[in-house]
Amino acid sequence: MKQDIKKYEHGVYQIDVFMENKPGRMSCYYIESSNPIMVEVGPSNSFPYLISSLKSLGIEKIDRSAMTHLHLDHIGGIGHMVEMFKDHMVYIHELGLKHLPNPDKLWKAVADIYTEEWLAKNWGRIKPTPTSNINALKDRELIDLGNGRSLEAIYGPGHAKHHYTFYDHESKTLFMGDTLGLIYPHGDFVQPNLPPPDFNKEILFNTLDDLKKLELNYLGLAHFGIHDNPYHLIDNAKESIENWLNFVKNLDSLSTYEASIEVISWLKSNYNALGIDSETINNYIDNAHFDMQINGIRNYIEKKKNP
Ligand SMILES: [Zn+2]
Repeated sequence: MKQDIKKYEHGVYQIDVFMENKPGRMSCYYIESSNPIMVEVGPSNSFPYLISSLKSLGIEKIDRSAMTHLHLDHIGGIGHMVEMFKDHMVYIHELGLKHLPNPDKLWKAVADIYTEEWLAKNWGRIKPTPTSNINALKDRELIDLGNGRSLEAIYGPGHAKHHYTFYDHESKTLFMGDTLGLIYPHGDFVQPNLPPPDFNKEILFNTLDDLKKLELNYLGLAHFGIHDNPYHLIDNAKESIENWLNFVKNLDSLSTYEASIEVISWLKSNYNALGIDSETINNYIDNAHFDMQINGIRNYIEKKKNP
């Protein structure tokens, strides 16, 4: 089975789980320590890639995982994990207690956006996780990694109301989930990710401003990888979000579909002007789900007008 694992300082491993069978789409992280942990597990269909990657590192058992939020590309495989390792503990927002034991609602919410067929084929079915395997996080909770090292859970809404980021005090890496947006290989800019129903600019910017106060050496994104220019990327994400909001505000008279066509051609010309190669541009465009982005932005604007 194909593998792509990168080792960073202080025993932080970036594992590509080949989401949708493609490289560079979803990274999970393993923090090696006397009391190790996974950050993210990826969707169900990626679970075999995760397990074979861990085995190649000599890791036969995983006792814990920290989940950034309840979207299926991040948590889809967690039921498989708990089935394989019966005492596996899942650290997640308290809504996990409600949804993971009976994940039908999560499944249906995403199926409404992507269709059930697409979801089953690309991400795979999610299995339930028993309540006894779930640890509901508290803001600023310290997860003990052993030998005085800890991973701090920081509540960070804006992308989703059930979002946590995780700060490793030793490597000074912040595992961002989807709080920042998307960065694919050879980009040093961030493409926003603003889905309904929770995207809210003010809340997201507060989160990003708070995270910027941390001493950061690296950001670990879910989509995709570890980056060593954290403060630049946070500023860039905010700038891109402002630009997207301003552009979409002016498309008021268009349907979601028509607006997404406009956004795509605007972005393509922006990315071309930045000198990005066409393969990377297509990667950004294909993975953004622009209908969803437009709905997320319009939902935010509407709520602001009629709170
Ligand atoms: Zn995601």
